[in-house]
Order: sequence, then structure tokens, then C-alpha cells
Amino acid sequence: MILVSACLAGLRTRYDGGDNLQEKVLQWVREGKAVLACPEQLGGLSTPRLPAEIVGGSGEDVLDGKARVMDMEGNDVTDAFLKGAEETLRIARMYGCKGAVLKESSPSCGSTLTYDGTFSRHKIPGQGVTAALLRRNGVEVFSEKDLSEENKLQPFLNSR
Ligand code: SF4
Repeated sequence: MILVSACLAGLRTRYDGGDNLQEKVLQWVREGKAVLACPEQLGGLSTPRLPAEIVGGSGEDVLDGKARVMDMEGNDVTDAFLKGAEETLRIARMYGCKGAVLKESSPSCGSTLTYDGTFSRHKIPGQGVTAALLRRNGVEVFSEKDLSEENKLQPFLNSR
């Protein structure tokens, strides 16, 4: 069983009420090989919601209390992002997920890139809060860019 970002399975969980459907991810859900989660909804945020970015560091820094997550009107939404990450980890443990495919560049789900905290659409190397927490707890995190690499992901689809 692999954990996937809910928006990649076609749920309209994005901040703007849209989705990021990837047919392969939806197929895994239908086949019972994937469990989906949206950390930001699990953290209690509404949909649609204001876009948010990590300010002053990376997802790891947020976990360590060294950076915050702010929405574009300046509201501090760090606690919701931390709660969502923790709930997503609970789901991964519940289903025995050893791997995850998460939406790239999100402040929660990004695994190699996030926005730089200036709301100027500029991306920097780094990971989101949920991706960082999952990795700290032994879950391998991939993004939709890895979906073509079936061999790499197959062991996680079949593990329990
Ligand atoms: Fe998708 Fe993750 Fe954003 Fe939820 S938090 S909409 S699952 S990228």
C-alpha cells in the first residue's frame, strides 16, 4: 500500500478547489494499492483556502520550530500544517505504507521543491512539512514526476 496526495487521485482538495489528477494514481486507489490523504484538509483548513508558503526555511525547519507557514494575507497557519502532517503520518502507519507519492512543490507535500515564501511563484530546493515528517519516520517520499518509474514504485505498492 502506498500513500498518495488526495489531489493526485482527483479529489478537489487544492487551495483553489481544483485537483491534480494523475490517472495512474487514481488507478492505484481503485485497485486498493493506494490510500489517499490531504494534509491541509486533515489539519483543519478549508477548501478553497488562501495559498500558503513556508517562510524562513524548509519543511524540516517548520518541524523544528525554526520556520513558519504563512498564508498570503499574513495569517500564521503553521499549527494546521503540523497537525495535517501528523495525521497523514498516522494514516501511513495505519496502512503500513513504506512509501508515498506526493504532489511536488506544495508547502505540505513537496518532496524536492517548495515556493520560497515570497508568493512570487519562485521555487527553491526543499520539502514540505508533511514530506519532511514522513521521511523522518522512515517513509520514502516520491512525487508525480516519478510516476513513470514503475520499477522504483512497485515494491511500495505491494508492501504492507
Ligand atoms: Fe494536494 Fe497535498 Fe495540497 Fe492536499 S496538501 S491539495 S494533497 S498538494
